[in-house]
Amino acid sequence: MSRIHRLSTRLANQIAAGEVVERPASVVKEVLENSLDAGATRIDIDVESGGSKLIRIRDNGSGMDAQDLPLALARHATSKITSLEDLERVGSLGFRGEALASIGSVSRLALTTNSDDGSEGCTAICEGREMEVQVRPAPHPQGTTVEVRDLFFNTPARRKFLRTEKTEFNHLEEVVKRLALSRFDVGFSLRHNGKVIHNLKSGTSDAERQRRVATVCGPAFMEQAIYIETDLPDFRLWGWVGLPTFSRSQADLQYFFVNGRVIRDRLIAHAVKQAYRDVLYHGRHPAFVLYLEVDPAQVDVNVHPTKHEVRFRDGRTVHNFIFSSLHRALADVRPADQLPENVVAADDGGTINTTTGEISSQGGLAWGAPSQAAGSGFGSYQPAARPLAGGAMEQVSSYGQLHPPANQAGLPEQGAAEDVPPLGYAVAQLKGIYILAENAQGMVVVDMHAAHERITYERLKQSRDTDGIRSQPLLVPQAVAVSQREVEVAAEHSELFERLGLAIEVGGEESLLIRQIPVTLRDSNVEQLLRDVLSDLIEYGSTDRIEAHLDEILSTMACHGSVRANRRLTIPEMNALLRDMEETERSGQCNHGRPTWTQLSLEELDKLFLRGR
Ligand code: ADP
Ligand code: MG
Repeated sequence: MSRIHRLSTRLANQIAAGEVVERPASVVKEVLENSLDAGATRIDIDVESGGSKLIRIRDNGSGMDAQDLPLALARHATSKITSLEDLERVGSLGFRGEALASIGSVSRLALTTNSDDGSEGCTAICEGREMEVQVRPAPHPQGTTVEVRDLFFNTPARRKFLRTEKTEFNHLEEVVKRLALSRFDVGFSLRHNGKVIHNLKSGTSDAERQRRVATVCGPAFMEQAIYIETDLPDFRLWGWVGLPTFSRSQADLQYFFVNGRVIRDRLIAHAVKQAYRDVLYHGRHPAFVLYLEVDPAQVDVNVHPTKHEVRFRDGRTVHNFIFSSLHRALADVRPADQLPENVVAADDGGTINTTTGEISSQGGLAWGAPSQAAGSGFGSYQPAARPLAGGAMEQVSSYGQLHPPANQAGLPEQGAAEDVPPLGYAVAQLKGIYILAENAQGMVVVDMHAAHERITYERLKQSRDTDGIRSQPLLVPQAVAVSQREVEVAAEHSELFERLGLAIEVGGEESLLIRQIPVTLRDSNVEQLLRDVLSDLIEYGSTDRIEAHLDEILSTMACHGSVRANRRLTIPEMNALLRDMEETERSGQCNHGRPTWTQLSLEELDKLFLRGR
C-alpha cells in the first residue's frame, strides 16, 4: 500500500478551517461578509453562549438556488471570481470559496435559502463525515439563513482554546461593530442569549452616519472627533479622527477600512502614529474611524486567508497620503472650530456640531477637555495623562517676554460684543496659573504655561523650517557598521539626510560614515538614530525619526523657555496670548498632548447653580 494517500474531504477542510475559523467571531465575520456580498440590506445575528453553542445569521440578500447549495458548501467553490484578472481587482469581500466548507467541517451547519420570493426555499445540512450535502425543500423568504451549532464539537483541540463566554462574545461583537461601520446602508441587529445588544438602523445621511459611529464607538468619541475628507485623483480618505485630547491607553478604538474592507495594517498604523506624533502624550493611542478608497487594482487583498491584511502596490504613496491628510487636519484645529457655534438639535435630543460632525448628548460642549468633563461639572476633569512633574506653579511663565506690555494688540474694543474672538477676552488671572476669559459662550479657562509652551514650540519649529537646520561637521567622522541593504537605502535617501542637516557617506560595502550632524543633536546618540531611521526606511519607505528627535529638543527648549520667570500677566498680555492661541497650529494641546484650554458654557454654569432659565 502506498504511504501517500489523499486526505478525506472533511480533514482537508478542517485543515483549511485552521486558518480561517479560529473562534466564533471568525465564523460571524465570514458569514456576515457573505451576506454583504449577497447584497443584503438587513442582517440579523442571533447567538447563544458567546457563539460556541449557536450562531444564526439571517439576511435578505440574493439567496441561492437548490442546485447552488451543495457548491456553496464545497471547498474552492465561489460565485465571486472566475479568473486571475478578477482576483487582481476583486470588489467582493469573499473570493476564496472556502469559508462555508471550513465552517461546515468543524460544526453542525445548516443553510436555508431562497433566491426568489415566489417559490419555496431549500435547506442543506452538513454534518456527515464525507460532507455529502442533502438538500431538502424548506420555506424561507428571499435571502439566506446560516445556522452554525456546536462549533468545534469534533475538534476538541480547537475547542480547548475557546475562552469564556464573555470573551468570545466580546470578540464577536467587535466583528459586528467593524462590519457595521463599514456599511452604513445595511441594518444590523445582534442578540445574545435572547437579549438585544445592538439594533442599528440603516441610513446614509450625515446625521445617520454620525449616529451609527456614536453608537458603535461611544458618544464621547464623537464629541471629541473631527470629520476629515481628502480627495485626490487616485485616493479618497474620509472619516473621523479623535482629537489628541481624546487619546486612549490602548489601540482599541482604531478602525480603518480600505474599499469597505476592515484592515489592520502596519503601514497604515505607522502613518497614523506619525501624524499624531507631535500632539499625543507619550504612550497614548489615537482613536479614529477612517475610510480609504482606492482603485481595487492598487491593492492586493489576497495576502492572508482572513483577509485582514492588504498589500498596496504603492505603499509609500499611500503612507504619505494618509500621513499628510491627518497631519494637516490635526494641525488645522483652531479654537474657533472647537466651539459649539454651529450646534443644532439632533432628533434624539442630542446635539450635532455641524462643523466638526460631533454628536453630544449634553447641551453644551466641553471642548479641549476630555469628555468626562462634559456636563459633569467644574472640577470633575480627570486628566487622562500624568501631570507634569513639579506642578504648574513653578512652571508658570511670563508671557510678557514675548509680548511686552506696550503691545496693545488684542485689547477688547468696548461695545463690540458681536466680534468677540473665539477664546474671548481675558478678565483675570488665577493663582498665576490660569487665565480666565469671557467669550460668546461663557467662560474660557486657559492653562497659561501649557498654551505658551505650544506657541513657543510652534514658533521654534517654524523658524527652523524657514531658516533651515544648522549643522556642524564632526571632527572625526563616525563610522557605523551596517548591512549592505542599509548602505543602499542610505545612499538612496541622501537628500533626506541632507535636508535634516546630516551628512552621511558610504564608507564601504557594509559601512556608513557620519560626517556632519545638526547642532541640536550634538548630545544625542546619532548612531542609534541613524540605525532606527534606516530600519524605518526599509520597512515603511519613510521616517520621521530625525524630525521627531529634533522636535523633541525644540519642545524641551520651549518648555524651559516658558518656565523661567514667574511674573503676573497684564490683561493686554493675556489677550495677546489668547489671540496667539487662535492663530497657532495645534494650540488645543500642549507639547505633551494635554489640553491647553477648556470652555464652560453659560448653561453649564447655570446648572452648577441650579439656575433654571
Ligand atoms: P466565498 O465567499 O469566498 O465565495 P464562501 O464559502 O464564503 O466563499 O461561500 C461560497 C459561496 O456561497 C459564495 O460564493 C456565494 O455564492 C454563496 N453564498 C454564501 N453565503 C451566501 C449568502 N448569504 N447569500 C447568497 N449566497 C451565499
Ligand atoms: Mg465568503
